[in-house]
Amino acid sequence: MQVSSLLPALAIASALAAPVTVQADAGEVNLYSARKEALIKPLLDRFTEETGIKVNLVTGDADALLQRLKSEGDNSPADLLLTVDAGNLYRAKAAGLTQPLSSDALAAAVPDTYRDPEGHWVGLSLRARPIMYAKDRVEPAALSTYEDLADPQWKGRICIRSSSNVYNQSLVASIIAADGADAAEEWATGLVANMARPPEGGDRDQIKAVAAGQCDLAVANTYYLAGMLKSDDPGERDPAQKVAVFWPNQPGQGDGRGTHVNVSGGAVLKSAKNKETAVKLLEFLVTPDSQAWYAETNGEYPVRDGVAPSTVLAEWGTFEADDLNLAELGERNAEAVKLMDRAGWK
Ligand code: FE
Repeated sequence: MQVSSLLPALAIASALAAPVTVQADAGEVNLYSARKEALIKPLLDRFTEETGIKVNLVTGDADALLQRLKSEGDNSPADLLLTVDAGNLYRAKAAGLTQPLSSDALAAAVPDTYRDPEGHWVGLSLRARPIMYAKDRVEPAALSTYEDLADPQWKGRICIRSSSNVYNQSLVASIIAADGADAAEEWATGLVANMARPPEGGDRDQIKAVAAGQCDLAVANTYYLAGMLKSDDPGERDPAQKVAVFWPNQPGQGDGRGTHVNVSGGAVLKSAKNKETAVKLLEFLVTPDSQAWYAETNGEYPVRDGVAPSTVLAEWGTFEADDLNLAELGERNAEAVKLMDRAGWK
């Protein structure tokens, strides 16, 4: 029986007239999010509409939120952290800020490789970090693996951002996992020798540098290119149209382990006073509808199987993803940082 049929007519009329009413006893969840408000708020509003659970949202930079959680300690009001990159999720766990959660719905929706084996965090959206190339100057047949980017044929032709960036640290961690630390260091040294310029700017700047002819190849996260292609600003859109995606390490290329991927994800905090509602929100974020909206809005891939990517992403074709458990990216982060430093990666 529908709840509304139990209400007197007057109550129904006023309920319809009112905007979304929040049940006072449905609870709340205090969310610290490294995702910008525009990229998450509409989904949170839908969650509140469906469950009555109020979401108190604090947004901030990933590093700043981690610092804030550390200084607030047990007194933190936060229940749930949303952040980007398994490296950051690992840092939150390693700092003792998170707690394990168990949820059949999350386990069923999110592949093992995109969840912490001890349940401290769960992936919510997927991004790949492929090679991007100048359509007019590079034959995709000349490309194959990340490892090949250290080959002298690419001397002076590669743009990639700084080693201080967690995305590159995670990429190098994946190469350590695949090839071993010695080979990874040799690779990083070769990559540095092939750089067109000392690292500067973010991923969008590398894509723009390829379009401008400063370099022929870049390594960048897929959602930056998607965002540029969807932009109303010709200064973003035009360079993006000169650049294409190449999926490295596909079957038949090198070890064929698949292209490096990473996630944005969520972790229930140790300080949580509303653990149950925090887990409910995570479960909501992996429903097929949420996944479709979230991936489309962020220019990312759904983390859940069976949800189609946006048309922009679909144009790049399908690819095999490295099936390394992403927790390993965090475990190997410190090693990756030292190795990049020794290789002279600024
Ligand atoms: Fe990013």
